Amino acid sequence: MAPDEVCLRIRANLERIEGRILRACDRAGRARGEVTLVGVTKTRSPAEVEAAYACGLRHLGENRVEELEARRSAPGPWLAQEPPTWHMIGHIQSRKAARAVAVSDRIHSVDSLRLAQRLDRAAAEAGRVLPVLLEINVSGEASKYGFDASTPAAEDALLAEAAQLEGFAHLEVQGLMTMAPVVAEPEQARPVFARLRLLRERLRRELPFSTWRELSMGMTDDFEVAIQEGATLVRIGRAIFAPQIHE
Ligand SMILES: *Cc1c(COP(=O)(O)O)cnc(C)c1O
Repeated sequence: MAPDEVCLRIRANLERIEGRILRACDRAGRARGEVTLVGVTKTRSPAEVEAAYACGLRHLGENRVEELEARRSAPGPWLAQEPPTWHMIGHIQSRKAARAVAVSDRIHSVDSLRLAQRLDRAAAEAGRVLPVLLEINVSGEASKYGFDASTPAAEDALLAEAAQLEGFAHLEVQGLMTMAPVVAEPEQARPVFARLRLLRERLRRELPFSTWRELSMGMTDDFEVAIQEGATLVRIGRAIFAPQIHE
């Protein structure tokens, strides 16, 4: 596809998404500024990523360390301008912790205490404090990464582990992330989002070392419901980059 067509498609998609985010915020009585759109660039061509940047998208996300390394070292319009903020949103093997720290502005996918420990150490060596979110497996699906929160006992264990994060001086714990199960209707994802919000309320009460401000939830198929349930970061790939609009 010619670059112009790529640009036009992505511009039109972003305009529609922006309208949908605005309407979802309105319906929920929230300000548009409370929600950050993270464009998920995985599997997209450099031309597509550059087009999204040219349309004003400044928060970009990848789900693999190698991809984030490649994106950051690739030439692009951002070299001469304000660089995008890069979000790491996928599972990180502990042995890649230092590499993840080197290329991530924020990590949404801290899914174990062991990984948190490795990231803290790597951030200390890099002389940084790394903004992170804890990935929560709300539904307890075996195929999903994240701290298990699917039963009251699991949630108590999660609280005990999360308490230990206070000791990690080089991590700034900002909140929670989850992936909703694949469902036929967006409404079916609502209970998962609502439970992440309730978990945040509990963390705020019991572990006030963080504000637990951020809720990273909502993707192409369910971001409006996630915004109604309090999402502060929505991670959207297909609706931005796919040729046909998902609506
Ligand atoms: C791919 C991906 C997304 C975006 O999914 P879409 O359905 O394309 O919007 C969001 N979060 C994570 C963790 C992903 O891997």
